[in-house]
Amino acid sequence: MERTKFTLDETEIPTHWYNVQADLPKPLPPVLHPGTGNPVTPDDLAPLFPMELIKQEVSTERWIEIPEEVRDVYQLWRPTTLFRAHRLEKALDTPAKIFYKYEGTSPPGSHKPNTAVAQAYYNKQEGIKRISTETGAGQWGSALSFGGACFGVEITVYMVRISYDQKPYRRIMMEVWGAKCVPSPSEDTKAGRDMLAKWPDCPGSLGLAISEAVEDCMSRDDTHYALGSVLNHVLLHQTVNGLEAKKLMEKADAYPDIIVGCIGGGSNFAGLFLPFVKDKIDGTRPDLRIINVEPMSAPSITKGPYAYDFGDVAGLTPLIKMYTLGHSFIPPPIHAGGLRYHGMAPIICHLHQLGLVEARAEHQLATFEAGITFARTEGIISAPEPCHNIKVAIDEALKCRESGESKTILIAHSGHGHVDMAAYDAYLSGKLQDYEYPEDKVKEALAELPKVG
Ligand SMILES: *Cc1c(COP(=O)(O)O)cnc(C)c1O
Repeated sequence: MERTKFTLDETEIPTHWYNVQADLPKPLPPVLHPGTGNPVTPDDLAPLFPMELIKQEVSTERWIEIPEEVRDVYQLWRPTTLFRAHRLEKALDTPAKIFYKYEGTSPPGSHKPNTAVAQAYYNKQEGIKRISTETGAGQWGSALSFGGACFGVEITVYMVRISYDQKPYRRIMMEVWGAKCVPSPSEDTKAGRDMLAKWPDCPGSLGLAISEAVEDCMSRDDTHYALGSVLNHVLLHQTVNGLEAKKLMEKADAYPDIIVGCIGGGSNFAGLFLPFVKDKIDGTRPDLRIINVEPMSAPSITKGPYAYDFGDVAGLTPLIKMYTLGHSFIPPPIHAGGLRYHGMAPIICHLHQLGLVEARAEHQLATFEAGITFARTEGIISAPEPCHNIKVAIDEALKCRESGESKTILIAHSGHGHVDMAAYDAYLSGKLQDYEYPEDKVKEALAELPKVG
């Protein structure tokens, strides 16, 4: 019998995160202050984040030590397992070898606590009592609530209203872990009140919820803000997963030809692929393909321009150079598959510009179909997000069936879908439709981009 699971011992949890900024062939473009247009300074960011995270954001040190307290918490579910998808391969009748690294065994059920725990820890170390944040479907909010519970930090989560109304279970998880969850737009902030005055039934968006969380943080001395994706320090924390994956692929006596992952803000996939992209940068694995998969309904890399934009609707955040659909982007309510942010992690955008990674957009119906195939073969009911890359992995495996090649495909599997049953129900009962984000909306958004230097 060929092996199905590859595992590491608890003592093999990486001791350091990998910082790709040490190895980039060209440095990242600077993040700009929205008022002055100059690069932001650590002092500009100090009201929002602990100094340790601000340092990590711009560090070019290759290895950054994971604090022992954080590794202690990681031990609750890390190292996570690498699976060989024998049953999926058989069902596809493909000579391809398909692996997936599965992050769904963490307490909140995704990769997100890899950074949530670290962020709660650094805030606690700096004497911060409370953290505000935003959440879309609730995955990040629940992960940070868990992180807060680990270190005794109070958490307030602004949750996009449409999810707050339609998906109560993640809100309840946040409350079980002791956090407060507020539907956004809310009456608690100026950004929320302004939106409600214009549009009382506004379903909310991640960009708007970020505005509320940032405003909440700025109005109090005991509060910091936390972001669950996009930023360099978040991607850094997620590399714990990619480092494990690299060791595990060695144990499996394999190296990927193709790595696929889904991208919302880009953190789970970058966390997996960054330790591998290093091999591409230094020329040891020039043929490795890294495919970022996004939804057709929020296609920032595949359709958006590469430009400076705000991270939020109200224009409170620094300006970040990224592929963007415009900071006023509100995703269509018809979209069930997560991954709804208007921008993208600057590190992924930069690597895309350098030709080191590729991107592809997928329609939601096909991704759910892939998720069902995966569930009926491998057993795991995936969150709608990783169904995007499972779809691409299946396509690539089917190409191998045509060509007879036996490629090795590694799937970044970011989490389970146990709290997303309504989305599967909508799919199975024929209520979901495909939606392609229109070109003219991308053009409209361009007109709204902030003018830079
Ligand atoms: C949040 C989330 C994503 C998308 O966020 P990234 O920062 O792009 O990783 C993907 N999968 C799952 C399961 C998530 O919870």
